[in-house]
Amino acid sequence: MATQIDLLAALQEIDQRLQRKELSLQELHQQVATTRSQIELKEREVEERQRRITELEVRHQAAEERLGEEEEKIKEKRVRLNRIRNERELLAMRREVEIMKEANGKLEDEALKLLEQIEQEKTLLVQSQAQLADFQNRIAQEAAQIEAQVATLEAEAQFERGEREKITHLVDADLCARYERIFAKRGGVAVVEIRAGICQGCHMRIPPQMDNQIRSNIQQNTGTIFHCPHCGRVLYWRAASEDTSNA
Ligand SMILES: [Zn+2]
Repeated sequence: MATQIDLLAALQEIDQRLQRKELSLQELHQQVATTRSQIELKEREVEERQRRITELEVRHQAAEERLGEEEEKIKEKRVRLNRIRNERELLAMRREVEIMKEANGKLEDEALKLLEQIEQEKTLLVQSQAQLADFQNRIAQEAAQIEAQVATLEAEAQFERGEREKITHLVDADLCARYERIFAKRGGVAVVEIRAGICQGCHMRIPPQMDNQIRSNIQQNTGTIFHCPHCGRVLYWRAASEDTSNA
């Protein structure tokens, strides 16, 4: 029959596999979340460019309308010019028309500049939309692949949890709780071998008396549990591990 320490060692193997699977699952979810946030960012960029184009088009439209109105006014003035006979009045009105034409020139430049900005924004919009489509394609391709990986990992984890349950039924409840605390606190390593008097968890030397006790207890199968006095991990001794140098 397996001793408590054998069971704990088996439990730890399961827990370590479970931990790796859970980590892989987290990474996969993280990968999906990263692509999603890239898409959201691009979507906002596309919206912002579209909003900017609309705003520029409104301004361009307004400039064109004002230009039309001003040109209409100049035409009216010109008609009136033809009817004026008084020289001074004629000069004044010509001067007025000149000033209006100058103002219209500026208005025309403004409208042209707006048109250029609209063209630039449209080019950038096409780029952003292409990048967005790229991200969307990527997530569509990744999604199926990641879903399959997640399903496999979850099924495997489910199996491991079943195996874990079987073992924990056989382990003393207090010892199991103690093991779980150490596992959580000590980076997923709670049961370690003692080799040549050294704890393989913290690599510190175990007092020789304790080392002897551990060996004899395990050989006699008494089931006493020993903790490393330095790191608190459960110590496990196997004759085979120390024999490897002779192999
Ligand atoms: Zn230790």
